[in-house]
Amino acid sequence: MSATNAMPGSAQAEGSTVAAASLVVENLVVNYGGVQAVRGINFRVGVGESVGIIGANGAGKSSTLKATLGLVKRTAARLDYGATDLLAVQPRHVIRHGIGYVPEGRKIFGGLSVEKNLMLGAYTQRWGEHTRSRIQEIYAIFPVLGDMKNRLGGALSGGQQQMMAIGRALMSNPRLLILDEPSMGLSPKLVDDVLEVIQRLRGAGMSILLVEQNAKLTFEATTHCFVMENGQIVVDGPADDLRHDPQVRRIYLGI
Ligand code: ATP
Repeated sequence: MSATNAMPGSAQAEGSTVAAASLVVENLVVNYGGVQAVRGINFRVGVGESVGIIGANGAGKSSTLKATLGLVKRTAARLDYGATDLLAVQPRHVIRHGIGYVPEGRKIFGGLSVEKNLMLGAYTQRWGEHTRSRIQEIYAIFPVLGDMKNRLGGALSGGQQQMMAIGRALMSNPRLLILDEPSMGLSPKLVDDVLEVIQRLRGAGMSILLVEQNAKLTFEATTHCFVMENGQIVVDGPADDLRHDPQVRRIYLGI
């Protein structure tokens, strides 16, 4: 899979009506019936920062992302993206505020063309010159998507589908990109491709919030990480510190 060095930099800033902002989360709680999946966690993602969440299956990572986006019921003392109180925003309107989401399992539409899948990412915008030029920017980032734009999404490889899911999220010109397990099911080579894309998005100034079970990828893709266990944050610090933490290395890197 190839991606060029083209990145949504200044063009993105011009197209976006939303200023970059910090995500501030305080005392976030998610309950599913009797299961408390997220137990009052606090974190922030500053402008241009990249933050990773690692942890075992069921630790509460995906619930944290979904709660941030309003996709599950939650409470929080504070859930702000800049001046926007996300607790008061309908989930379908979150992308209007400059937040893009790449869901776990990609959730692409296999029966729609690659181009139509990408167009879905611009559902809050009127289709016109701006969205047409945006789709060309996405093809510049991921040339393979341009080459296959008329193919059905379901015909793409797992790695290409992941690029399509990221491209779809980029259609709305996000300033903060939230990714849930983008490496899931991908070969090591394709995991490297995903890492490269995230690093280039970071380089273009995008804020990143990344959930992964692949701790190695997370440490390389982010500058700050936290470890979740049983709905709580148990370790928190610079990615480089966590990478060298003996306990984290033993549990999450198998070293
Ligand atoms: P994974 O990597 O397996 O997705 P995770 O760290 O993302 O794990 P969550 O998916 O957030 O964890 O799940 C946290 C807890 O909440 C788990 O105990 C899970 O079984 C439970 N859970 C998640 N979604 C639901 C739901 N819709 N209804 C009930 N319980 C749920």
